Amino acid sequence: MKPIQRIHHISATVADPNENLYFYRDVLGLRLVKQTINFENKAMYHLYFANEQVDPGSVITFFPHEENPIGRVGAGQVRRIAFRVPKNTLHYWETYLNKQAVAYTEDTLFQKSALFFQDPHHLHLALVEAEETREDQQIIGLHGVELLSSDPIYTLEFLMQEMGLLLHKMTPKYYYLKMRGVEGQEVLIHRKFTKRGRLGIGTVHHIAWSVPDKESLKSWEETIAAHYPITAIQNRQYFYSAYFKDPGQIIYELATDGPGFTVDESLATLGSTLMLPDQYEEERADIERNLPKLNL
Ligand code: ZN
Repeated sequence: MKPIQRIHHISATVADPNENLYFYRDVLGLRLVKQTINFENKAMYHLYFANEQVDPGSVITFFPHEENPIGRVGAGQVRRIAFRVPKNTLHYWETYLNKQAVAYTEDTLFQKSALFFQDPHHLHLALVEAEETREDQQIIGLHGVELLSSDPIYTLEFLMQEMGLLLHKMTPKYYYLKMRGVEGQEVLIHRKFTKRGRLGIGTVHHIAWSVPDKESLKSWEETIAAHYPITAIQNRQYFYSAYFKDPGQIIYELATDGPGFTVDESLATLGSTLMLPDQYEEERADIERNLPKLNL
C-alpha cells in the first residue's frame, strides 16, 4: 500500500452553527462546501469548509450543536490545527485578525513563525507560513496537526511504520513528522505526558487520512484490523471510510478521495443547499424544521 500522502479532512465538535459559519467563512475566508447532517444524529449539521478550489488537504468539518457536551483538550486528541498561508503574509494576518477582534499570540510551530488563536468555541488553531508565494493572502489549506498522545512513542511508531509518515526531527519536547504528499503537511507529537482529554465542544473529534480509492481502503482496513479494532467500511456520501484509534487513543479515519463533494452539487454551487443522502430525503421537511436556520 502506498504510504499516507495527506490529511483528507479534520472534524471537530463545536457549538452554535452560525458562529461556526461566521468564523470559518467570514473571518478565515474559507468556503462552505457542504451543508449536510451528522449521519448519526439528524438534528445536527455537518458543515464542511475548504479553500476556494476545494483542493485535497484543505477540508475541515464541524459538528455544531449548542447542546454538545463541553470538551477538554488532552491526551488522545489533536492539540491544535494549523492552516498554511502564503509566504510573507503572516504580517497581513496579524493586522487582519486585529481588525476582526480575534486575539492571537505570536509563536513557532513546526519550527516556523506562527500565529496562535482560537475559534469562537475555543478550538486551538494556528496559521503558519508556507514556502510558496501567492497573489492573495488566503489560506492555502491545512498544514498539519499537533497531537497529544496517551502513548507518544507508540503513536510515533504507528504513524511511521503503519502509515508511512517520515520522522524528520526529534527534540526533547517533540517528534516532528512529515507526510509525503506535495503539500508537505506535518505532524508534531508532544512527548510530554498530558491528562486524558474529553471529546466535546472545542476539541477535534478525528483526523481523516486520505487513501486513493475503495480498493486501497479495503487493504488498509485489513492491515489495521490485524492489530487494532477498526469499524466496517462506511458510505459517507462524499467518501468511503473506516474509523479506528491509534495506540495513543487518537481517533483516526481512513477516507477515500472519491467520489468527492461534487457527487450531488456542482462545483459552483457547493454548500448552498442542505444536502441529504437518499435514505433521508423523504424526511427532509422534518429534518429542516429541526435544524437551526443558517445565515447563508
Ligand atoms: Zn471524518
